[in-house]
Amino acid sequence: VKLTRRQIDERVTLLRQYCKTRGLPLTHQRQVIYSALAASETHPTPEEICSQVRREMPSVSLATVYKNIKFFLDLGLLREVTALHERQLLDANLEPHHHFVCQRCKTVMDIRERDLEPVRWTISPPPGIRISGYKVEVTGLCIRCARKTKTSRSSRRRKSNGNAKL
Ligand SMILES: [Zn+2]
Ligand SMILES: [Zn+2]
Repeated sequence: VKLTRRQIDERVTLLRQYCKTRGLPLTHQRQVIYSALAASETHPTPEEICSQVRREMPSVSLATVYKNIKFFLDLGLLREVTALHERQLLDANLEPHHHFVCQRCKTVMDIRERDLEPVRWTISPPPGIRISGYKVEVTGLCIRCARKTKTSRSSRRRKSNGNAKL
């Protein structure tokens, strides 16, 4: 899914509104960091965001990026893909959505909520728990990895054909 300039601007405007209504400081640096997050179509790690921000602001430290990420997470303007992944993957897409995770390269792609049939309990949920929502994680191979698997398979086939001729 390719983000439009407008969608990115809308996300950054949301940050401005949130800070304004809550009386929180919005520095230029904070805006640059959030813009990098808002424009990202992958689910970047804090380190990836940091190196991207450094192109514009070479002096920014990873600690500053971490601090701002925490600020955005606390505001609800940023999400983590799942708290259980060993790497912290960030997500500025605030629309309800699910994720596709490539088993091989761990690429994470968004799946729109309306593209999946809603999940329903076939029995009652475990008694006593309080449910606030659900996320579906679809797993498989991304386009690149699927293509690689295909080529390695067909080259193997070519090889065995060659052997057969000998
Ligand atoms: Zn992959
Ligand atoms: Zn996402």
